[in-house]
Amino acid sequence: MIQPHGGVLINRIDYSQPVNRNNVRVELDNTALSDLELIAIGAYSPLTGFMGENDYRSVVKNMRLHDGTVWSIPITLPVSEATAKRIRCGDTVNLEKDGIVYGVMTVTDLFFPDKQEEAEKVYRTSELQHPGVKKLFERENVYLGGPIILVRRPARQFEGHTLDPLETRARFIELGWGTIVGFQTRNPVHRAHEYLQKCALEMVDGLFLNPLVGETKADDIPGDVRMKSYKVLLEKYYPSTRVLLSVFPAAMRYAGPREAIFHALVRKNYGCTHFIVGRDHAGVGNYYGTYDSQKIFSSFTKEDIGITTLFFENSFYCTKCENMASYKTCPHEEKDHVSLSGTKVRAMLQKGEAPPKEFSRPEVAQVLIEGLQQQILIQTGTVASDG
Ligand code: ADP
Repeated sequence: MIQPHGGVLINRIDYSQPVNRNNVRVELDNTALSDLELIAIGAYSPLTGFMGENDYRSVVKNMRLHDGTVWSIPITLPVSEATAKRIRCGDTVNLEKDGIVYGVMTVTDLFFPDKQEEAEKVYRTSELQHPGVKKLFERENVYLGGPIILVRRPARQFEGHTLDPLETRARFIELGWGTIVGFQTRNPVHRAHEYLQKCALEMVDGLFLNPLVGETKADDIPGDVRMKSYKVLLEKYYPSTRVLLSVFPAAMRYAGPREAIFHALVRKNYGCTHFIVGRDHAGVGNYYGTYDSQKIFSSFTKEDIGITTLFFENSFYCTKCENMASYKTCPHEEKDHVSLSGTKVRAMLQKGEAPPKEFSRPEVAQVLIEGLQQQILIQTGTVASDG
């Protein structure tokens, strides 16, 4: 079994830990709550808490923790200045959301970040139109760092498909898989994704389909609708013995190359030996070059990363080849290729139109159409949210 990042799978869960109600309360946003859980279950190994100042600065500047271990995305706990004033280093604080205490943290660091620098280094832009940068600046201005303990598990949205790294590692052994390819997505699985996954499945023992279901931008397709679509797709088009579907509850950062590194390291912690990086991985708009998320891996040695990356070119259905392909395998012109933008596909689905079957499996399109129409009805108040 592959070693976790940093060598040890972190476990910071202790449901029996007593919580002192007199501790200062720190209100978590959705991103911080999901980060708390992911640190505790070891998905972010070797992190044992929210980053202190030394790790934070080193990650922003050099993509490494202070001890030299590769880490590309700051994992931070922002609090307001008013809250920060009530906290001293050495205090234990309660990490809460909506009145429920999910964790406790021993504060080792309390500092003002340079958000401008964080934006420019991590996101390669400080434009507020970038959804990750927007989020960065919307969050509070003081960062708290220190080791955490998870005292209560946030509600599981996808029962049976929310496995911790310890559990996925055990499942991979049970399944007899020696090599496992991880696949990150915040989208429904379209034919191009399927092509990448199946090319990889020709080479490795199993596919770990690990969709990100934490906070995404408003126009991304919601996680619950996507989950239905993944299940239909797997049932109809994949051999059941070769795929494990389980969610990645993290927030999407849209940090392109930096996030590709982060996504790869986390999948190593889940037990994957391989990780797919296609075109514009974790990108948004035109902020990153098509293959920047692949190129960034060349800044590190294989040992630094420790999981094998599988890079794929932009893939599409070619009407002349009558097959999925990329420019590596197809000699035909762009006009022969079926490629649709995410925006175009969403607009079609919202109108109840299925994209061509060369782009999306019809069964998947059907689930997405139904899911999005239900969402529109909920938004307009026509049906209740559980209806
Ligand atoms: P994310 O934004 O989380 O990377 P996507 O759903 O856009 O999610 O992509 C999932 C993975 O598939 C990424 O590695 C991405 O690079 C790759 N990918 C998506 N579409 C294509 C395509 N048409 N050709 C090649 N790779 C693709």
